[in-house]
Amino acid sequence: MDAIRADSIVKKFGQVTALDGVSVEVAAGELFFLLGASGCGKTTLLRCIAGLETPTSGHIFFGDRDVTQLPPHKREAAMVFQSYALWPHLNVERNVAFGLEERKVDKAEIRRRVGEALELVHLSGMGDRGIDQLSGGQQQRVALARALVVRPKCLLLDEPLSNLDAKLRIEMRREIRRIVKEGGLTGVYVTHDQEEALSMADRMAVLNKGRIEQLGTAEDVYRNPHTAFVSGFIGETNLVKGKALEVRGEFAMIESAAGPLVGRVTRPEWVPAAGEEVILSIRPEAWRVDSQSGENPITGKIIERSYLGQRIQYLVDTPVGIQQVVELNPHLVREPGETPLRLTARHSDVAVLQA
Ligand code: ATP
Repeated sequence: MDAIRADSIVKKFGQVTALDGVSVEVAAGELFFLLGASGCGKTTLLRCIAGLETPTSGHIFFGDRDVTQLPPHKREAAMVFQSYALWPHLNVERNVAFGLEERKVDKAEIRRRVGEALELVHLSGMGDRGIDQLSGGQQQRVALARALVVRPKCLLLDEPLSNLDAKLRIEMRREIRRIVKEGGLTGVYVTHDQEEALSMADRMAVLNKGRIEQLGTAEDVYRNPHTAFVSGFIGETNLVKGKALEVRGEFAMIESAAGPLVGRVTRPEWVPAAGEEVILSIRPEAWRVDSQSGENPITGKIIERSYLGQRIQYLVDTPVGIQQVVELNPHLVREPGETPLRLTARHSDVAVLQA
């Protein structure tokens, strides 16, 4: 395994700046996610790491090696794509062996390494199956085995699960994480699916318009979003406008349409000035329904209720706009129209963001 470092990467395609000075370090053995909306530059960054694109400026390092000018096959990185790009006329074993045959590895060694790769993806004994005799999930495992058979130090994955149905996708999340960890690989994984990233990543970078907007562990990015974009992209949230009244330590009091609300300033290098417009991000599960003594009390009226089994979701009309509220206690059922409904949210569960 190798650490991967992208240093001030700029990539332009004609007039389009796909990457606008991106720097990121992925530790050896880490499973790192590049996350962002369509067109934010995540695939371009992955392709620069793989050697399929050359940056306009900046450098890519694998460990201490500057690989910026090296062709893909000299980087000891393997890539897995959304379309598995398997050969339909070759069986599983031949598909996996293909890369080694091209590299003129001797036959016995090929057989040993193909066996090893198939075992790692739990497809042992299926080597002579035709590709069309496999399920979507099994085909994805073949694509993974084919990437692993060349014994890469890094595994680069570009939306590898988007062609699978929901249930398989969840199963393969666990599998890919296991394969990266058991294989002792450094993994970089591109997706626009925030749930995939939250459930699998050691750390993630959220990209927006060719720049990294935030970098951190899943929990850190979810709990402490630095911008309204990140808080809306990673998970669901309610955004509430306000004006800063006063800052005390990490907490700020904000004037809102429902009166003063207190939240936590989550961005380390920023403190709102008195009178500055800000945005509050309040997760649906941060609102408590009808707690008598909670912090940040506001009142509202339920306009919609959805029963979701383990939780109930309400839409509540309040002076700060319609709030999405998730009640995790399914026995606390309230009826639409019931008014006034009291909502509270802990100061530490409200993020104060730059407008
Ligand atoms: P998606 O999730 O849709 O794949 P992405 O975040 O991976 O999006 P990129 O594919 O990296 O985005 O594209 C970033 C920007 O660069 C986009 O505006 C895209 O149109 C542009 N771009 C990417 N590749 C090329 C290319 N070969 N030629 C011209 N423009 C390109």
